Amino acid sequence: MKIALIAHDKKKVDMINFTVAYTSILEKHTLFATGTTGLKIQEATGLDVERFQSGPLGGDQQIGAKIANNEMDLVIFFRDPLTAQPHEPDITALMRLCDVYQIPLVTNLGGAEVMIRALDKGLFEWRNV
Ligand code: PGA
Repeated sequence: MKIALIAHDKKKVDMINFTVAYTSILEKHTLFATGTTGLKIQEATGLDVERFQSGPLGGDQQIGAKIANNEMDLVIFFRDPLTAQPHEPDITALMRLCDVYQIPLVTNLGGAEVMIRALDKGLFEWRNV
């Protein structure tokens, strides 16, 4: 499966902890991330991650393009709702595309925990139907 990983600055520690905890599952999949999130994941886990631009420089839109091309199966996006983000329109657009194409999107650690376990149990096979 193709998985996109994005975390706002105040959520990057959550993302590192999440990817460290689930490295053995994540390494079986194709990973994409926005620039800084991807770098931090690589440094912490050694996972192979294809990195796009940083979010404010277009990374969210690059992930959106993958969704529109049916090239993404899951988006794990740790959002910070308490801090204004300069690229809020891009974030909204990315989430909108997930809804247009029925791509599973989780926006916090709790959702990600459930999704990663579902992924590991093969419950994402519906994407191939
Ligand atoms: P970053 O971008 O991983 O480059 O920090 C994430 C975002 O702000 O959307």
